[in-house]
Amino acid sequence: PKLVYDFTEGNKDLRDLLGGKGANLAEMTNLGLPVPPGFTITTEACRYYLEHGELPGGLAEEIDRHLSALERAMGKRLGQPDDPLLVSVRSGARFSMPGMMETVLNIGLNDESVAGLAAQAGDERFAWDSYRRLVQMFGKTVLGVDGDLFEDALEAAKKAKGTDQDTDLDAADLRGLVGTFKQIVREHAGRDFPTDPREQLDLAIKAVFTSWNAPRAVLYRRQERIPADLGTAVNVVAMVFGNMGMDSGTGVAFTRDPATGRQGVYGDYLQNAQGEDVVAGIRNTVPLTELERLDPRSYAELLRIMETLENHYRDMCDIEFTIERGKLWMLQTRVGKRTAAAAFRIACQLLDQGLIDEDEAVARVTGDQLAQLMFPRFDAAQADGSKLLTTGMNASPGAAVGKAVFSSERAVELAGQGQDVILVRRETNPDDLAGMVAARGVLTSRGGKTSHAAVVARGMGKTCVCGAEELDVDVRAARFTAPGGVTVQEGETISIDGTTGRVYLGEVPVEDSPVVRYFEGALDPGEGDELVQAVHRIMRHADARARLGVRANADTPEDAARARRFGARGIGLCRTEHMFLGDRRRLVEQLILAETDDERRTALAALEPLQRADFEGILEAMDGLPVTIRLIDPPLHEFLPDLTELAVKVALAGGDADPRDRKLLEAVRRLHEQNPMLGLRGVRLGLVIPGLFAMQVRAIAHAAARRVAAGGDPRPEIMIPLVGAVQELEAVRDEARGVLAEVREETGVDVPALIGTMIELPRAALTAGQIAEAAEFFSFGTNDLTQTTWGFSRDDVEAAFFGRYLELGVFGVSPFETLDREGVGRLVRIAVEEGRATRPDLKLGICGEHGGDPESVHFCHEVGLDYVSCSPFRVPVARLEAGRAAI
Ligand code: ADP
Ligand code: MG
Ligand code: MG
Repeated sequence: PKLVYDFTEGNKDLRDLLGGKGANLAEMTNLGLPVPPGFTITTEACRYYLEHGELPGGLAEEIDRHLSALERAMGKRLGQPDDPLLVSVRSGARFSMPGMMETVLNIGLNDESVAGLAAQAGDERFAWDSYRRLVQMFGKTVLGVDGDLFEDALEAAKKAKGTDQDTDLDAADLRGLVGTFKQIVREHAGRDFPTDPREQLDLAIKAVFTSWNAPRAVLYRRQERIPADLGTAVNVVAMVFGNMGMDSGTGVAFTRDPATGRQGVYGDYLQNAQGEDVVAGIRNTVPLTELERLDPRSYAELLRIMETLENHYRDMCDIEFTIERGKLWMLQTRVGKRTAAAAFRIACQLLDQGLIDEDEAVARVTGDQLAQLMFPRFDAAQADGSKLLTTGMNASPGAAVGKAVFSSERAVELAGQGQDVILVRRETNPDDLAGMVAARGVLTSRGGKTSHAAVVARGMGKTCVCGAEELDVDVRAARFTAPGGVTVQEGETISIDGTTGRVYLGEVPVEDSPVVRYFEGALDPGEGDELVQAVHRIMRHADARARLGVRANADTPEDAARARRFGARGIGLCRTEHMFLGDRRRLVEQLILAETDDERRTALAALEPLQRADFEGILEAMDGLPVTIRLIDPPLHEFLPDLTELAVKVALAGGDADPRDRKLLEAVRRLHEQNPMLGLRGVRLGLVIPGLFAMQVRAIAHAAARRVAAGGDPRPEIMIPLVGAVQELEAVRDEARGVLAEVREETGVDVPALIGTMIELPRAALTAGQIAEAAEFFSFGTNDLTQTTWGFSRDDVEAAFFGRYLELGVFGVSPFETLDREGVGRLVRIAVEEGRATRPDLKLGICGEHGGDPESVHFCHEVGLDYVSCSPFRVPVARLEAGRAAI
């Protein structure tokens, strides 16, 4: 295969092969935008290298050919002593992983070519600055030398000069630094800095390949659910120089505000600087609007290019650019990361501009983003009354409260103990990732909206305030000082508002988001702000497109009513076990302790009216919509006292022990199970304890009859859990039908009630063709189906070893979070096919927690289920994803 593509040969649709950066550099090149020439080595070459430890055959020759072409185009050779071509070697994967992998600038410099560069540019200082950057970056990235050693040497040089600005170092200082840096390399890398430009290039390419597996990149991918085996492409790009003086510089920009979606000029610019200086927060940047004054021609051209890019990509883009002595160069673009609110606003703005249609607008937002918008935020009145420490930049929205911590390690440690923490740093770098993951929010005192902290937090949906410059953060002493001398020590609680940028001392109470109030029906979309209106428009279209229905898992009339307001079209799972808790425990105990049929009947008779009232309430809340009621599922001993506690109580009481306690203890011992999850529960209870299921069915039937009498439209569906064989289902179905017929006789009301089953055991899925003979509907209980298919006990394994499994790539995400398509999903497919073959009008749904997981919703759409059911709060997310799945 072709392993190297010139920028003129690629395009934006080749992201798998060329990575996002390479594909978009090619796209910009072909749009005629000013991109320095270069070429891209494919992800395929990287995968080969990582697997075999050597470059694929033919790659060296292809690189030779493309390098020669680049040299011809530029009219100079790589590292040519009197006039060197310099290149950057840049990582760039399919999915953007900001700052996670490596890039080396200024490849091609050595002791001879540095003089050539100085002569060509007429600038000694610039040439030595470029050279010291090369030795530093190459030493750290390619040769694995601790980066702090270089930073410390740089600091020392500035100190000796009595300055804290890089730009105050002159050519001689920088020449001295190059010597020091080379010495550091020699001591710590066990080799000299390579002077042969081609060797530099080859080593850098391999280092970029290898950086795919750097620990922080691995962690980031896991966090962002990016597959581990994609590999990175490598871009070799002719250097352009932003460090050639004050008429040069480098910057980053968004075509719209990534926090709100508003159109305009958003970005940062830094004069006389190269590459990473802007994002690293090393020197203070100026807002991009300043460029209009500094270099009006480049500014105007930049605005034109930004418009071209927006129209071309039909989306908000972010860009990196450099100005070399008044000439603008584009170094990167991509469809920009944005906050959830901006995603909804931008989708509707682009719709209004006619750049995209309604389907596309729905496709442009995600259920995860919608979920973020439903997070609570600070109560404005309470916030007003709180002590405002400072206001920074609103980098990533949300409200976060926690204890201030000052290092990634502490954040991980305290979060591991279950505490909420806010990670406070001067600025973050990729090594802080673990702490950012662990923290509720991130606060930095330096860096703008394009800083590492801001970009990464936005990507994770984590609240972030950055660039709070008034704060004096002392990481070593683990404290920060705010204006007015207020000092916050590690462990003190602060509240940060990523929507406004405000930082408060202490805990500020939070309130519902307006999006939730809109879903609740408490806020008319017409009266809402731009965001609420955007959500409303997108949801309307998603609902219109969805084929998959959305129901809710709800056990109480209140939950049912809320789910309905959130747009649920019925209940997919009403659990009945909570109806046996509280005061009713005594009745359950009576049932379990019953020694005669009479005693048992008495206990059941006492439970029945209570259950009937519960069902009436829920059927009323969901009037006109289906309500799937699951008969009791958990093992009965869950309703009894704890074995040890009771045994101790009886033993302590000795001869005076309550006889009832003794009997209870006996029962608890008798019912004790080694593996309750696989024990006497579900349909097995119905078969072993006479009258239990019948009582529940009677309660349902009577509740429905009463609803009819009251003019309602009840639609109960009776669901039998944990069936593994059709014979089990037939037995309880026949009993249930008998009960329904009796109630019909008694009340004179014909209550239609479907009888169906959960599919949550592999055997049920594999014999679904038979089970469908006795079931009018299936509901996939994917929590249990995942447990029983993998043989994982969810309560035990997640904490025990899922971390290790994720690391090893056994799965990319917990199968309890996202449905495992290959295993559990295969069983679902089989059951759908064979069930429908037996009974074409079989109703099919899912009621595991997967019903609210975006990826799993798409799976349910694909296999042709009729509905998903999820917790009330996830209903809007599932509706949106059901619409997206249909587009
Ligand atoms: P990242 O993926 O971390 O953004 P990049 O490959 O984009 O890394 O490069 C890091 C920095 O170096 C960026 O600011 C980029 O604009 C700059 N840079 C990369 N290549 C060149 C080049 N050929 N000329 C000038 N600056 C460059
Ligand atoms: Mg970049
Ligand atoms: Mg179950």
